[in-house]
Formats: sequence, C-alpha cells, structure tokens
Amino acid sequence: MMTAGRAAEKGARVLLLEKNNRLGVKLSITGKGRCNITQAEFDNRKFIKELGANGKFLFSALHKFSARDAMDFFESRGTELKIERGARVFPKSDQSKNILEVLVKYCRDNSVKILTRAIVKEIIAKNKKIEKIILADGQELLAEKYAICAGGKAYPGTGSTGEAYEWLAKMGHKIIEPMPGLAPIIMQEKWIKELEGASLKNVKITVFQNNKKQDERFGEALFTDDGMSGPIILDMSKKIGKLLKIGEVEISIDFKPALDFEVLDKRIQQDFMMFKNKMFKNGLDLLLPKKLIATFIKLSGIDENKKVNSITKQERKKLISLLKEFRLNVKKVDGFDKAIVTVGGADLKEIDPKTMRSKIIANLYLAGEILDLDGPTGGFNLQIAWSTGYALGDDF
Ligand SMILES: Cc1cc2nc3c(=O)[nH]c(=O)nc-3n(C[C@H](O)[C@H](O)[C@H](O)COP(=O)(O)OP(=O)(O)OC[C@H]3O[C@@H](n4cnc5c(N)ncnc54)[C@H](O)[C@@H]3O)c2cc1C
Repeated sequence: MMTAGRAAEKGARVLLLEKNNRLGVKLSITGKGRCNITQAEFDNRKFIKELGANGKFLFSALHKFSARDAMDFFESRGTELKIERGARVFPKSDQSKNILEVLVKYCRDNSVKILTRAIVKEIIAKNKKIEKIILADGQELLAEKYAICAGGKAYPGTGSTGEAYEWLAKMGHKIIEPMPGLAPIIMQEKWIKELEGASLKNVKITVFQNNKKQDERFGEALFTDDGMSGPIILDMSKKIGKLLKIGEVEISIDFKPALDFEVLDKRIQQDFMMFKNKMFKNGLDLLLPKKLIATFIKLSGIDENKKVNSITKQERKKLISLLKEFRLNVKKVDGFDKAIVTVGGADLKEIDPKTMRSKIIANLYLAGEILDLDGPTGGFNLQIAWSTGYALGDDF
C-alpha cells in the first residue's frame, strides 16, 4: 500500500493486486490489534544497529522515509499517535484499523486501482525481464514495471504464504532460507505445561551453548503449553534458531536478577521468618508467581509439607539456585504459524538499496518482509516495510 500510494503520487498508473478479499489483513492484527507502527528512535544509525548485520541495507531508504517521517505520514493524515514504553509508537485509538484506513485512503486519493481476490499464480520472465503475470483465474496482466511486496511466510493465514520466493528463485534471485523469526520456543521438558500461562516480569534470560553464554536479555516473558514466549524470548529466537543448527541450546532464567545470591538468601530467610510456622508449600507466595510454586517445590526436592522453620541451609541453597539459574533445554523454535516475521528472504546483494530495484531482472522491484531483513519487536518490522515501500514507490 505504501509502495502503490507513493508510486501513484509520483505519477505512475498503479494496479495493486491482493489475494485476500480486503487489504491489510496482517496489518490489522499487528501489535495485538493496536499496530505498533514504528519505533521512536530518530537516530537512524541506532535504528539500523538493532537490525543486525543486514541493517546497513536500510540506510538510504530510512534516510528517505524515517521513523519520524512515518509518524508524520500518519499524523498529518489525521491519526493521532502515542509513544509507549520501549519507544513503541501506536495510534492513540489503540486500533490498527485507523492505520489501515490511512493507507487505503492514500492509495485511493492517488487513484491506485485496487484489485482484491487477485491471486498472483505465476510470473513469466524472459531475457531478464518480466513479460507478464498470470492470476489464479487465468487473467494475464502486463505492465512496464512490477513491484513484489508479498511479505514472508509468517502467519500464513493472513495471506503471506511465501510463494513469491519461488517466483524469485525461478527468475534467478538468490533466496536466503526463510526461517521463523520472533517466534516462541519449544522446550524439551514436557512438564513445562504445568507452568502454562505464568507471565514473568523483570526476569533475565541467558542463552547458552556448550555452557558458553550466547545472548542475554532483561524484561518480560511467559510460559506457553510447550515452551516460552513473550518479548525477550521472541527477540532472542532468531539467535536461538541459528544456534540450534549447530548444536544444543539451553536457557537459564534468573527470576530475581536484581538480587545476588547472598541478598536473595537474606530475603528468603526474612520470608521464612515471617512464615515460620507454615508449611513450605505455603511459604513461597512472596517469592514467586502462584503458577510456578508447585513446580519449584517439585524441582527443589524439599518436602512440601515440611515446616518452613526446619528448612536447612542446603535446601535453601537449592531453592536459590533454582531462582537464579532455572535451566531449560530448547527443542526448537516454533513454526511460521506462530512467528511474527520471516528471517531470510531475497538476498540483499541483488537489490539496489536506494531504489529497491532488482539487479537481476530489469523491471522488478522488491520491498517489505520479502527482503532478507528483519528487526526485533517494537515497530522495527513495519518501519522496514514503510521505508523500503516508500523508497520503491518514489523511484518507480
Ligand atoms: C501477529 C503479528 C503481529 C505483528 N505486529 C507487529 C507490530 O506491532 N509492529 C511491527 O513493526 N511489525 C509487526 N509485525 C510484522 C509486520 O506485520 C510485517 O513485518 C509487515 O506486515 C510486513 O509487511 P509486508 O507488506 O512486507 O507484507 P505483508 O503485510 O505480509 O503483506 C503482503 C501481502 O501480499 C499478499 N500476497 C501474498 N502473496 C500473494 C499472491 N500470490 N497474490 C496476491 N497477493 C499476495 C498477502 O495477502 C498480503 O496481504 C507483526 C506480525 C504478525 C504476524
């Protein structure tokens, strides 16, 4: 929509094809329906640093259409915005439909012709040039230039099913293997199901391979029926996926990162003094979320009916080590059905970062998640789509 609107604004005659019966199905569910449109990080270098090794590809496009520009784009079209914790920008209404409406209007105001239920089936290219595209209903369409902004493979129910990778590969583009990104992780421990729904605030999670620290984050996480999710897990899932390709991966949860072993021990002793006549199973309420208590008791090996005042120093030590180093073994990163983005995609070396033009096919342009470019949670991925989409449209 950003590509189509901008290209039309610059004078192109644009036909926008969408396989769904309406535009922006994925956009509507972003940010849990609130749409975290961008990250209020106005230093482009800092923004790009968050995208990892491929981030530098975005420099020109971000310079042309920055996070500030994205905010101005929506605000100047009547959508009030707000900035929340972690510089996340949302519409003040908390409704993604307001963002979608602006984009649809942008297209309509610039006379973009919109065709929904139009499934692109095949792209016919000859001599390094696209000749025509064929829709599922057999219609053949010809244009001077073609922009593919078909997204990745994440949440395929929204329409982003990844067939464009095949078209690109057939035309000679290199595709970096698409993998689920910003996805929950599944653990080997089956008993994790007992913790389902427990949400954790202010925890530290460290990723290990061969006992060597690989990554570490502070923040929020939660237990699912077979593993873990939540912001810090999602942000580390890309790294975890890569590590799993070469070996086993363990995570360690520190439930009390603000307290070292000694201070935590004092704190537990204070709690135990307060609850000295209670049974162990009733003495942990101040220390842990309710959902975690039964599992902690089991793993500590301490008799749940033991009086708190008879718990030994050794037993307390075991409890502290569980609180500071709760180890779990990662089985795998969850699939595309639950991933927020796709890691991998069209190789950036074959695309001009200023114009998004293919270096392989003369009249082909690419923008958005189809590119081998992705960021952490917090509005980075939509900003990648806005910036690359705008840069593409601007030069179309
Ligand atoms: C649950 C969820 C929440 C998210 N929340 C956020 C958030 O809050 N902030 C953020 O920055 N990012 C978020 N993201 C990521 C963000 O939504 C994507 O990175 C972004 O939508 C990518 O934009 P795109 O235009 O490249 O692709 P898409 O939004 O996937 O759009 C591609 C379009 O192409 C259409 N299409 C595909 N194939 C064909 C075909 N063969 N013929 C015709 N049409 C086709 C699809 O139907 C789709 O409408 C979230 C993602 C998910 C899944």
